[in-house]
Amino acid sequence: MEQIAASVRDIVDFPQPGIVFKDLTPVMRDPALLRLATVELARPFRDSGVTVVLGMEARGFIFGSLVAAELGAGFVPLRKPGKLPYATHRVAYDLEYGSAALEMHQDALSAADRVLLVDDLIATGGTASASLQLAANSGASIVGAAFVIELDFLGGRQALGNCRVHALLHY
Ligand code: AMP
Repeated sequence: MEQIAASVRDIVDFPQPGIVFKDLTPVMRDPALLRLATVELARPFRDSGVTVVLGMEARGFIFGSLVAAELGAGFVPLRKPGKLPYATHRVAYDLEYGSAALEMHQDALSAADRVLLVDDLIATGGTASASLQLAANSGASIVGAAFVIELDFLGGRQALGNCRVHALLHY
């Protein structure tokens, strides 16, 4: 984990003053670190019967797809409004900076699915909690949520209730 931590780049005041952005592109750029992050994100959920990984636009697509392939699961994208071509469900939520909404195809999940949420980072937990709400509304079971980074001081994990939360790095 120290190897991954050493490659996380802090960008001060991005995308706005007061935010220290955790840039994971150097981790993605390194083949060994990308593989390590994928394996470690998936590790606690190998025997959990995950059928679908849910990933949020945009960095959740990268880590989420890799974890889905690692677990032999499918992948469902949660996208910003207006991007998905078919009928959608939408949820609005607050961010560490600003507010946003995400959409999911209405037929993406069924009650038989076992869902793992994957994103690069959990801050306030607003994005993840909104995403889990979309998944839960479909009747699917929530297996857990996995993040490369958790910003512990923002308490995002509390926003996810009793969901099993796994994070590789803590700040
Ligand atoms: P939140 O909804 O507050 O948990 O914010 C999580 C989402 O915002 C994730 O999709 C992150 O990619 C992004 N995000 C929030 N804060 C940061 C940060 N300090 N560095 C990088 N990404 C962040």
